[in-house]
Amino acid sequence: MYLKSLRMVGFKSFARAVELTFNSNITAIIGPNGSGKSNITDAIRWVLGEQSSKSLRGKQMEDVIFSGTDFHNPMGYAEVTILLDNSDQYFKEFPDEISITRRLFKTGESTYLINNQSVRLREVHAVFADTGLGKNGYSIVGQGNIENIINSDPNTLRSIIEEAVGIVNYKSRENEAQKELKSAQSNMERIQDLIIELE
Ligand code: ATP
Repeated sequence: MYLKSLRMVGFKSFARAVELTFNSNITAIIGPNGSGKSNITDAIRWVLGEQSSKSLRGKQMEDVIFSGTDFHNPMGYAEVTILLDNSDQYFKEFPDEISITRRLFKTGESTYLINNQSVRLREVHAVFADTGLGKNGYSIVGQGNIENIINSDPNTLRSIIEEAVGIVNYKSRENEAQKELKSAQSNMERIQDLIIELE
């Protein structure tokens, strides 16, 4: 599995549609300061469901929408699509190509698509949980990230290790099972009360 392409429209400094294609080897992106290199990694994190505008270096999420220059009007929306090559069936329930799209309008309306089907954010998160690729996957290491990891408190470090060893999906399933168990237990108690009343 590898990242095949990245398409951005109206995302940060990329007003017009820009598509970058990658192969399975190493790609280096070079350019002068302020030319948009970090905006590319921001786009990848954003399409994978990043919810923190701060970690995308903005104040609010709408800041990812191209805000205009002397040569180009502002855009009304931002859209990023990544295409993953899945011919090795890394993601077993998906076809050989997986596209993920995120779109955000200035009005605040936002959509996610997996292979052109509208999905919820948590479905995007579920695909990538435990793969090391999700928004918390540390497959993207930004400037200053390593220092942040070294200085993080024990709880944060624990969650980083949990993501790395791949137990996040199991933990969220355990939480859901615990909730169901609690609700079944309270139903049982109600039934017991009713039985006592009827006896
Ligand atoms: P450096 O090498 O200094 O880290 P870089 O190549 O990583 O720089 P970025 O930080 O990716 O550069 O890009 C910064 C540029 O993106 C700035 O010129 C900034 O004005 C522009 N930019 C960021 N958000 C938007 C936006 N919403 N609309 C228009 N331009 C934006």
